[in-house]
Amino acid sequence: MASFRFKALEDVLDRKPIHVETPSVKISDYFSKRVFVMDKMREYLADDALQSVNESMNTGKRIPRAVADQVASAMKDWAISMGATHYTHWFQPLTGSTAEKHDSFFTPLGGGKAIEKFAGANLTQQEPDASSFPSGGIRNTFEARGYTAWDPSSPAFLIGRTLCIPTIFISYTGEALDNKMPLLKALHSIDKSATRVCKYFDKNVTKVISTLGWEQEYFLIDSSLYNTRPDIQFTGRTLFGHNPAKGQQLDDHYFGSIPERIHMFMRDFETESHLLGIPVTTRHNEVAPNQFEVAPMFEETNLANDHNLLLMDLLEKIARKHNFRILLHEKPFAGLNGSGKHNNWSLATDTGVNLLSPGKNPKTNLQFLTFMVNTIAAIHDYADVLRAHIANAGNDHRLGANEAPPAIISVFIGSELTRVLDRLEKSVKAGKMTPDDKTQLKLDIGKIPEILLDNTDRNRTSPFAFTGNKFEFRAVGSTANCGVPMTALNVMVSQQLGEFADKIDIEIGKGVKKDEAIIKELQKLIKHSRNIRFEGNGYGEEWVAEAKKRGLSNVKDAPRAIVMLDTKKVIDLYVKQNVLTERELKARVEIELEKYKMQIQIESRICGDIALSHIIPVALGYQTMLIQNVLGINQILNQASALKATKTQLQIVEEISERVEIIKTKVDEMVEERKKANKIEDTYDAAIAYCDKVKPTMGEIRYQVDKLELLVDDQLWPMPKLRELLFTR
Ligand code: ADP
Ligand code: MG
Repeated sequence: MASFRFKALEDVLDRKPIHVETPSVKISDYFSKRVFVMDKMREYLADDALQSVNESMNTGKRIPRAVADQVASAMKDWAISMGATHYTHWFQPLTGSTAEKHDSFFTPLGGGKAIEKFAGANLTQQEPDASSFPSGGIRNTFEARGYTAWDPSSPAFLIGRTLCIPTIFISYTGEALDNKMPLLKALHSIDKSATRVCKYFDKNVTKVISTLGWEQEYFLIDSSLYNTRPDIQFTGRTLFGHNPAKGQQLDDHYFGSIPERIHMFMRDFETESHLLGIPVTTRHNEVAPNQFEVAPMFEETNLANDHNLLLMDLLEKIARKHNFRILLHEKPFAGLNGSGKHNNWSLATDTGVNLLSPGKNPKTNLQFLTFMVNTIAAIHDYADVLRAHIANAGNDHRLGANEAPPAIISVFIGSELTRVLDRLEKSVKAGKMTPDDKTQLKLDIGKIPEILLDNTDRNRTSPFAFTGNKFEFRAVGSTANCGVPMTALNVMVSQQLGEFADKIDIEIGKGVKKDEAIIKELQKLIKHSRNIRFEGNGYGEEWVAEAKKRGLSNVKDAPRAIVMLDTKKVIDLYVKQNVLTERELKARVEIELEKYKMQIQIESRICGDIALSHIIPVALGYQTMLIQNVLGINQILNQASALKATKTQLQIVEEISERVEIIKTKVDEMVEERKKANKIEDTYDAAIAYCDKVKPTMGEIRYQVDKLELLVDDQLWPMPKLRELLFTR
């Protein structure tokens, strides 16, 4: 086995950067070349068809069958002109990743004849075998069929020779089996409620979109090294490995120069991204060795999310081409920073206004404050929903580990905005506002932009931070489908904005002036949501105590977080916003719990296997060498000298025996706990058993194995050590 390790290390030393040329120096020359964007549609489609597609993109209106036929034919012609032979509906099942099933354009006609065909029906709907995708019990009832249906709001694109059509995935009974359909519904919901609120300030606003700019972190390791680590291969993270003497403590990796081999890999996937219309702009080294980040320009949320999923796919594929493997896991290496996926979020109007950007005058600033305060109020009321939607086995290792925000949800807005909200809360008196009150308030509110302009305070320890013109949701894990937290966030803000508008309408109905009604309601919301605001160090112990005093949740493990969705309050929220039915929501809870359970189960099996069949034999082999050494010494030296000369060896011999014994006992215990957990019928109880009984034992086994790693002859050690994984490139 050790020979496998050394062979892999030799492979790495021989690696040369794989040179990559971009199609042109200017990215704009080839950006979106492989996407069926509006410009190309214009080339291939008649005006009325184009208009119908446009309308559907903006309003969600159904595309008539005849138009679908035209679009399909246009798509096919374009795709074939680009070398495509197949098409696929590209969808986002509840596994968390993406799925596709390819069909060819080629259609035999009989008599040895054939044509290339792609009808509207093939574009709008397909019927992949749904039975092997998770449904959380939705499908089992009576019908296993599932459908994918075209999402015209995200353009079709070409991967290799396949035309990919973004679709939703639903059951025969119309229930969502994917992450896209609820997202689209949430985006529709926030459009309605935010537009309604915008109308108080500007009658010209007819549509509000949610914007998302994600930042994707990842690790790279050489593929030969990857292949010698079953833990990474099967779980995405290292279950063993002593911390290297040098980790990230010198902070010398962050923003450092990028090694050539990695640079070429980046250039390669960036080029592919650009061809696919993914507007990636930023790349840099992250904090941990071999950790990197890629970020695009922000886009409309549904499109941005499709782009993130596509990029995750590209990263995997292109990494292999460069003899790397990409680790998207939230915590591949204990002791080093994990990977997150910050979700930068805002709302924008069709009149071009960013609703979370302070305006130029008191009126637009009041609009800014309205969206700001309502967002804070939504997070206050539904913090648990946000927490639940970032919960997974990987993120458990990251949240609260002094590198990522804690599991406590709070909102950071900066000292200047805090002052503005404090003033608003205190200065508005009960009863009718006097003209003087109003003038003073206008002055206060009018000052916001200049204040924010030079307000550069940032709080990197907050899970949900205002960063000048958007909120940054930092607690999202690197493997996440952003659609999940973005659905949650938009749903809760939409709910809050709707309630807000209801109240304002009632006040206006009573004859209260609009501005006054808004200011008074904001004041109430500021008071109401004060507890969720936290400006201090989110990593500190004091915050944990303080949050507890405030009554904020601090749910540290995924199953307990996920199950918070299964409450009346949350079901009401999703049902009222028409985003998920009770059954759909419960199905998701079931699927996430099951996923958690299975992940820990796999980790635990791999952990046991490696400990028993890789580590113990090697440790005992080394022990035998020591014993032979001791026996030999005893043969050639007298008793007194031999005793002295074998002292260290005997100590090591004993330590190995002790550690091996603990490892074996713990693995046996873990297997017993697994057996017990597997008998538990209830998914939540089973997930909790895995969380509380199985998972901690893995940590204990690891501790012993890592100690052996320091003891056993390096020449015998079977798996590449963490320093080799992290510093060989
Ligand atoms: P970092 O967090 O690394 O310091 P920034 O705070 O500058 O980086 O965030 C950059 C991200 O925020 C980018 O992905 C960018 O596209 C995104 N972003 C900027 N404005 C908006 C917006 N209005 N809505 C959503 N995302 C935005
Ligand atoms: Mg960020």
